[in-house]
Amino acid sequence: MILPGHIALAIFGHKLLRVDLPTAMAASLAPDLVDKALAQVLQITPSGRYAMHSLVGWAAISAVVFLVGGKERGRAWAVGHFLHFIGDGGEMPWLLFLRDYSFSAPKGFGDVFWEAFATTEGLLRFAFELVLLGGALAWMVHDHRAEQAKSANQGANG
Ligand SMILES: [Zn+2]
Repeated sequence: MILPGHIALAIFGHKLLRVDLPTAMAASLAPDLVDKALAQVLQITPSGRYAMHSLVGWAAISAVVFLVGGKERGRAWAVGHFLHFIGDGGEMPWLLFLRDYSFSAPKGFGDVFWEAFATTEGLLRFAFELVLLGGALAWMVHDHRAEQAKSANQGANG
């Protein structure tokens, strides 16, 4: 998945598992921001799916957020970060640092962009992610309006 899909999954996680939205959103976006910056921009790591795309990275960062930000934020981070894995799918270095992985050279931004927007499969995937994001946002707006109507009712009755 790319941005719209990861944002949508964070919203679904927030709604279905009742986790803090900003934390889940940050956790859902962080793996790509960190790993792709390290691999494709700074060229420090061998792959855009590296430490943040591993169970070790997931557990370590979730534990740090838990210790620094408390139980609710820690839970929200764990959920959002794990939803990133589900959104990505495919091969992941799950046990990085515990076993060896061989990585193919990281894709350049041109290749990533080409795959995402210049192929039929990429465009269909992007369209699917936009639909998913639309559904997630519609769900949030619906619940927000329902809550507003409820509190307006309580105000009128109280
Ligand atoms: Zn990713």
